[in-house]
Amino acid sequence: MARRKKIYEGKAKILYEGPEPGTVVQYFKDDATAFNAEKRDVIDGKGVLNNRLSEFFMVGLNSIGVPTHFMKRLNMREQLVRQCEIIPLEVIVRNFAAGTMAKRLGIEEGTALPRPIVEYCYKDDSLGDPLVTEEHIAAFGWASQQDMDDILSLALRVNDFMSGLMYGVGIKLVDFKIEIGRVYDGDYQRLIVADEISPDSCRLWDIETGRKLDKDVFRRDLGDLADAYTEVARRLGVMPANATPMEKPKLIN
Ligand code: 5GP
Repeated sequence: MARRKKIYEGKAKILYEGPEPGTVVQYFKDDATAFNAEKRDVIDGKGVLNNRLSEFFMVGLNSIGVPTHFMKRLNMREQLVRQCEIIPLEVIVRNFAAGTMAKRLGIEEGTALPRPIVEYCYKDDSLGDPLVTEEHIAAFGWASQQDMDDILSLALRVNDFMSGLMYGVGIKLVDFKIEIGRVYDGDYQRLIVADEISPDSCRLWDIETGRKLDKDVFRRDLGDLADAYTEVARRLGVMPANATPMEKPKLIN
């Protein structure tokens, strides 16, 4: 059997060369990291849950005309995606104050924002993904003005779609991060939603109880991360209602 060519290994995913030119296999690992990988653990089943959830969100986005890199799920941990050039920005959309914004501006976590706020961070682990402005983005050539208009429009459309979906299952979409990729169609280039959308990259709070159902459970030691992600998957109908969190295969005699 031929060995697959690894293109890139990140903290939560591995990318392999896909079967056709222009395709990539995205493998979801069970590794969880936080605070720029200072805190790390392996959470059994996380990769499987994020593979399914990211598929669910990306298929939904594709169906309402928001272009994404998702092509098809291959198995429990892998999906086939369109190869793209990742723009080196983390695009964050916030509906309620939380995390770094709450801290930076001294706003109580959970405060509703007057309108969605979009922030950009420069993707560089060694710098801790610093917050940047459109001035930096233009001056350093990370994206053009036309790209920035398209990125803002994609980010707000993803926010509308995800907020509605979550609200329907009793979950508040506090904030999320997406990454954007550039693809070329002949003489044209366009931008698509890439990477993943999952509870690793969103803040999700139960509307009734305030229970956190996202990676903050790991970051802040609030309980079992796989339980929280399974709850999100169950509510969205991505997992059967009686699903239990994924476990490692056990050896039986
Ligand atoms: P904050 O800036 O408050 O830490 O994060 C804002 C939102 O973006 C949160 O939903 C958080 O999960 C997401 N986010 C920010 N940076 C990263 C990152 O490097 N990786 C992932 N998976 N999500 C991130």
